[in-house]
Amino acid sequence: MTETATGTPEMIKKSAGIIKKLRPAYSKILDFYEKIFSAQEKSAAKTEIKPAQIADDIISIKAKEKFPLISLSEFSVDINSSRKLFKKICKIINKSENHMSSAAEVIFNANENKKIDFNELYAALLHDDDASFGNIASKLKIDRDTLAFITYNSIKPSLSIFAESASKYLDKDNPWEKGYCPVCGNLPVISTFESDGKRFLTCSFCWHKWTVTRLFCPFCENRETVSLHYLFSENEQEYRIDICDRCNKYIKNVDTRILSRFVYLPLEQIATLHLDIMAKEKGFESGVPLEFQV
Ligand SMILES: [Zn+2]
Ligand SMILES: [Zn+2]
Repeated sequence: MTETATGTPEMIKKSAGIIKKLRPAYSKILDFYEKIFSAQEKSAAKTEIKPAQIADDIISIKAKEKFPLISLSEFSVDINSSRKLFKKICKIINKSENHMSSAAEVIFNANENKKIDFNELYAALLHDDDASFGNIASKLKIDRDTLAFITYNSIKPSLSIFAESASKYLDKDNPWEKGYCPVCGNLPVISTFESDGKRFLTCSFCWHKWTVTRLFCPFCENRETVSLHYLFSENEQEYRIDICDRCNKYIKNVDTRILSRFVYLPLEQIATLHLDIMAKEKGFESGVPLEFQV
């Protein structure tokens, strides 16, 4: 089955329904994320982003030096559609009655009272400026982590669309073969095996997908068979956890060739949190911070 980081709300709902039947323990969390992902896909359809423009000489230098194509601060965001999505996500969180609900209500009200400067907020996130982001949260007296969750998720459609436009500049004849994203330089959130047996990594930030060799740790670039292993459960042949003895990190892998449902990667990432627990119990660390992933 094709696997992707985009899909229609109907496709997401259907896949989430199948997973909930298989693993009922995920019902509540998937009910929540299904709504977030559907809102993002609806927003993506209305998001307008000017495609990335990169000069030829910059492209060749970056390809030669293995530098990512764009830095985070160069990403374009459709402020209008992101603001609407921001508000929608606040409502979804508030209604879901989870650990972020009361904070989301405070954030929603701050937005209603026009206390949030979205240019400033998105710039702080895209410049990876922790201090500025923290200041915005404390000035508004709102929970920083919840604000970060809502902010990132509200610009995710813009980030993916912009990354997609930038990816056209990548050299298709020279595989990237690095553990970080060729578009934005961030680390992968999930790995996949696809129809022709090829392995892909998907970026935790912009959701661009790139191919790598099967025996490869994205976090330390280890390629030695002797120190690369995987864990898997007999009941879930579609998943495995790739682990590296050299850097002690792991990445989850979905073998999409086994799955007949539509594979929406953000959903698979959430629906496999039990694998993160399993990997941690065995003493391995996630290659990217989990709080950033979910
Ligand atoms: Zn990326
Ligand atoms: Zn490693």
